[in-house]
Amino acid sequence: MKTAWKKYQNEALNQVMSFNEGYKTYLTNAKTEREATKEAIALAEAKGFKDFSAYQTLKAGDKVYFNNRGKGVCLYVIGSDDITKGMNILGAHIDSPRLDIKQNPLYEDNGLVLMDTHYYGGVKKYQWVAHPMALHGVVCKKDGSVVTVKIGDDADDPVIGISDLLIHLSSDQMKKTGATVVEGEDLNALVGSIPSFDDEEEKDPVKKNILKLLKEKYDIEEDDFISAELEIVPAGATRDFGLDRSMVMGYGHDDRICAYTSLAAILDIDTPKRTACCILVDKEEVGSQGNTGMQSRFFENTIAELLAKLGVYSELNLRRLLRASKMLSSDVSAAYDPNYPSVNEMKNTAFFGKGIAFNKYTGSRGKGGCNDANPEFIAKLRQIMDDNDVSFQTAELGRVDQGGGGTIAYILANMDMEVIDAGIAVQNMHACYEVASKVDIYEAYRAYKVFLKEMC
Ligand code: MN
Ligand code: MN
Repeated sequence: MKTAWKKYQNEALNQVMSFNEGYKTYLTNAKTEREATKEAIALAEAKGFKDFSAYQTLKAGDKVYFNNRGKGVCLYVIGSDDITKGMNILGAHIDSPRLDIKQNPLYEDNGLVLMDTHYYGGVKKYQWVAHPMALHGVVCKKDGSVVTVKIGDDADDPVIGISDLLIHLSSDQMKKTGATVVEGEDLNALVGSIPSFDDEEEKDPVKKNILKLLKEKYDIEEDDFISAELEIVPAGATRDFGLDRSMVMGYGHDDRICAYTSLAAILDIDTPKRTACCILVDKEEVGSQGNTGMQSRFFENTIAELLAKLGVYSELNLRRLLRASKMLSSDVSAAYDPNYPSVNEMKNTAFFGKGIAFNKYTGSRGKGGCNDANPEFIAKLRQIMDDNDVSFQTAELGRVDQGGGGTIAYILANMDMEVIDAGIAVQNMHACYEVASKVDIYEAYRAYKVFLKEMC
């Protein structure tokens, strides 16, 4: 298998590097599912996409998006073929592991004020301590207003974070296993230490001072945390990684890396033959449930709306469309890591620099719970990738019985369409800062574009 870098020597390297500048900006600005949605819609509108409600009827070439509660988006470019003959669909998730603020978070302990969190998704908790962290999200008030919170990512902003025990006093802690060395209920973020002197007798004077600051800056009260969605995420910008700048390090590659590349692909499509679709969805890291997760009826409802505005809605047409559709379920893959080679079986492992990775299945314990892509579909995919000189590799998630992971692939496959897992290999998956190869990011974007244009 040859390296994808070979195609991008000298001047051609600029294509890879400049595409990645766009991605780095997106990832820096999209640290929550809400921010990822907002940024995606802004990019789409700049390329002529309009909210579904702006159309009375639809025709070939129309570009339309459906915003799902600000936490996910479905984009379509209507094709010239009969839509009931199927669509080409790209899907990726825009939620990432993080620490969510509890509904009743604030407390004071000996002059320090902390916020209680509940981690979201699968994390090695010890990776999330002693890092500069930011607070992003929304607070919804009883009067219907929504306050946007974003602290810790501007150069002048303070950061917050979770403490870790000093090595000098860790003799008991160091005997624990990795799973318990830092426990979930101990992931409390330190947010303040100056007391209020309004009333010397006051209980919790530091907490009182923090609440005063929140009132001044955001006009929110302690009770408003009950209807808030606040996430503690790693602070700082996405950066070049490696002395040769060949990689990107940032928070939330999983799976905004596939979201951005899928989005960039559909934004480049004019009038395709088959209708092109890009789904950016929430809640994958916790099982895809809920009205913003892939298991929601939201996606099917958007297709029903499209069929209605195309004048061809019927339940049967909707079913036929789903059955005739093809999908790349795009999610990150585990990249080979020379520091931990033993978890891989080398013939079926994803490597940096070898292009987009196709995973026939993702479950690694007896293929449990996975979508096992049909070889007829994979053969067609190989053909169009080779015809367009797209670098791709095939991989499993580690050795048999080593672990496993899930994606949204099976949910779409359950709707009766052909689906395969596809994506970009990353190191440090689910840690605060993940790493990916720039050439893989660029090849994934190319693969997605080819799939939207040529899969049939
Ligand atoms: Mn993922
Ligand atoms: Mn994940």
